[in-house]
Amino acid sequence: MFSYRHGFHAGNHADVLKHMVLIAVVKHMTAKPTALTVVDTHAGAGLYRLDSDFAGTSGEALDGIVKLLASPLAAEPPPLVADYLELVASFNPTGRKTKIYPGSPFVTQALLRTDPRDKLWLFELHPTDGKLLAGHVDQIEQKRQVALKREDGFEGLRALLPPPSRRALVLIDPSYEIKTDYTRVAACIQESLRKFATGTYMVWYPVIPRPEAHELPRRLKTLANQAGKPWLHATLNIGQSPERANTHTPGETPPRQGLTASGVFLVNPPHTLKPALQEALPAVLEVLGRGRGQSQLVEAS
Ligand code: SAM
Repeated sequence: MFSYRHGFHAGNHADVLKHMVLIAVVKHMTAKPTALTVVDTHAGAGLYRLDSDFAGTSGEALDGIVKLLASPLAAEPPPLVADYLELVASFNPTGRKTKIYPGSPFVTQALLRTDPRDKLWLFELHPTDGKLLAGHVDQIEQKRQVALKREDGFEGLRALLPPPSRRALVLIDPSYEIKTDYTRVAACIQESLRKFATGTYMVWYPVIPRPEAHELPRRLKTLANQAGKPWLHATLNIGQSPERANTHTPGETPPRQGLTASGVFLVNPPHTLKPALQEALPAVLEVLGRGRGQSQLVEAS
């Protein structure tokens, strides 16, 4: 069974990139009156406590949302960052320390309209996180707009495309615990584009020294190009902190610093996303960057 629990990573730099982009996309797609379907194939637990044993043990939010909130950028953020900080703040009491962090299901749910034609499908396989997510969904007023399936998200998506609304966002955010996730993501995008070519698809992936991880954005570009659909690719690499990088003998492999970089790949992205990210990502990197090797990238077809 899976050992990955998103609670250890909630609010880290990868979540900052992913959720900032997710907010921009959902906001753009809900600006038109047409009904919207959002499918989150790998939902996680939905809400996380940043002061829990989980999050406290790894402290990953300290290199993400917590650092961003404490930075001068929080006082004068570019629009994408402002929307992200505002959404996270809406889950926390005003003027108090940020303790609750919303995962993708609640980031999306907070932005959906109350129109019952807007629909959110959530898939989560982990028994504990699936149960936690069900409990959180049960607390919301608009729960009738949310369908939670504790099933395989890749499989579940198949039955939902094309959606009746003909306007949909699919977020594919696996933990990549198993190597086959990389090939499943690519196969899922290929099949989904065949069934529903006008959907917006967003894939998150870790930038790690593994051939499958490097290959994934290349494969996704090829698939989007073959389908004649526009794409956008953004990465955020916070680099290595000099103190930790210097603690090894030259020639030795430096000590692990956890995940330092991640990327998002979108097919049929909103046209407004590229300039917005080009403004926001350098500013975010300036705050979250740890030094050696830090970088960001925004490219689009
Ligand atoms: N999307 C979430 C967010 O941004 O808040 C985080 C998701 S986490 C990276 C990946 C989740 O996918 C884990 O909770 C894991 O249990 C779940 N998972 C792994 N394989 C799955 C599958 N085939 N179908 C559905 N869920 C799966």
